[in-house]
Amino acid sequence: MNNKQKPLLELLKDMALLAAKSEFYSKRLKSLNLDINNISSLEEFSKLPFITSPDMREHSKTFPAIPREEIAALFASGGTTGKPKIMYWTEEGLDESAKYVGLHIDRFFNIRGKLCILIVPGDNLAIVGTIMRRAFYSVGGMTAMMGLMSNHDQKKELIDVMKEENPYFMMGNPARLVSFLNDCKAEGVDPKSFGLKYIMSTSEVLQAKLKRFLEESYGAKIIQQAGMTEVSGIGIECSEFDGMHILEDAVYVEVVDPVSGKPIKEGVGEVVVSNLVNTAYPLVRYQTEDLARITYLPCRCGLTTPRLWYKCRTSESIDIEGQKIYAYQIDEVLNTMPHLSSHFSLKVSHVNGLNNILIQVESDSKEHTKINETQVKDSLNKAIPHLSDAEKAGKISIDIKLIKIETLPRTPRGKVSNRIVDERVWYKQQAPQPDGQRGEIF
Ligand SMILES: [Zn+2]
Repeated sequence: MNNKQKPLLELLKDMALLAAKSEFYSKRLKSLNLDINNISSLEEFSKLPFITSPDMREHSKTFPAIPREEIAALFASGGTTGKPKIMYWTEEGLDESAKYVGLHIDRFFNIRGKLCILIVPGDNLAIVGTIMRRAFYSVGGMTAMMGLMSNHDQKKELIDVMKEENPYFMMGNPARLVSFLNDCKAEGVDPKSFGLKYIMSTSEVLQAKLKRFLEESYGAKIIQQAGMTEVSGIGIECSEFDGMHILEDAVYVEVVDPVSGKPIKEGVGEVVVSNLVNTAYPLVRYQTEDLARITYLPCRCGLTTPRLWYKCRTSESIDIEGQKIYAYQIDEVLNTMPHLSSHFSLKVSHVNGLNNILIQVESDSKEHTKINETQVKDSLNKAIPHLSDAEKAGKISIDIKLIKIETLPRTPRGKVSNRIVDERVWYKQQAPQPDGQRGEIF
C-alpha cells in the first residue's frame, strides 16, 4: 500500500473498518451505535470516541484485527508501575513506519553511507531500536546499537568504537545523552573529538537549556524527534529546527482541547493519534495524554505538513480558580532565566481557606537569592496573569524557593519525579485519576 496514493479520509476509514473487526473495537462501536461506513468527512471522523491508555491496558488481547499468525512482533510500554500496554505489529507495518522515518531523516540530513550510534533501548520491549535500525537501513544508512550500558567495559567499548569510526549521527534520550557525556569525561575523552554532526533527541521533552548544553558538549546539532511504541514515529524536525514535522503518511495527528475534546487549529492541546500503517493494531484516535503546540503554517524548509512542539503530560497540571495551569508554562518561564536550572517542583496545598502554591526551583546561583526569587515570581505573573489575578484577589498565595541543584527527587531516567503535586483533599476526591504513566515516547 502506498499511502501517498489514497486520500486521508479513505486511509483513516480503511483502518477504522479494520479496527471494527477486532473484538474490542467492534464492541465499542456497537455500544455507541456507530458505523464507520457512515463517516463522510474528517470532521465526522474526529467525533469517534477516544481510545485511552486504560483501554489498551485492559483489552490488549482483543485489540488485534488480524489472526495471530500474521503478527510479526510484540512490543510493550508502561509496565514498570502497572499492567503494560501490549502492542502488536505486522512486518509490513514496521517497514512502512520505518520507511517514512528514514525518508524524512535522509531528506534533510543525508545519511546515506553514514554511521548512526543508537543509544536507545534495543534489548527491551520498546519499538524504537527496531524502527530506527530499519529506518536507517531503508535509506542506505548504517547503525550500531548500544542499549543500557550497565558496566564500565560496555561504556569504554562504545567510546573506543566512536573514536575509531567517527559516527555522523547519534540518537538517545536526554538522560542517556547526559550520562554518556559523563562516561566520556571519566575516560578522559572529549566528546567533540568524535566528530558527530547530528544528535537525535527522543523520548522526552527537551528543555532549551539542556539542548544548548548538549549541543555545546558534543559539538553537534540536536534534531528533536517524537514517537511512541503505540504508533511508532510521529514527528521529526527538519533542517530549520523549528518544530517536528508530522509523519503524515504513517500517522494521523489531531490536537484537541484537553477539557472539551474540540480540535485546535493553532495552539496547545492534547495529541490524539491514529495509526495508518499497522494493520495488526489499527489504533483509532488514541488519546496520548501528551500536550503539544501545533501549527499548520508552512515551514521555511518547504514542507507544508503541520509541526508539533511537545510540552508536558496532561496530568502535569493543577486547577487554580477554574483554570488549568500546566507544567510547561513554568518551563517556559524558567527557560528565559539563564541563571536557573530547568528543574522545578510545584506543590499546592489548602491551608485556612487559601490555596498555597510553592514552587521550588533548582539553582546553582549562590548570590542574591531573594532577588532571584522575586524575579521568578514577576516573570511567572507576567506569563500566567491568571495566577497573579488570583493572588491579588486573595484566593491564592505563591511562594518561590530556590534550592540547590540535584535536591529534588529524580526518576531512574533522571527527570524530576512528580513535578506537580496537589495536596488539596477536595481536589483528590473530585478529580478524575490520570493514567499517571508517561506515554513512553520513544
Ligand atoms: Zn521544516
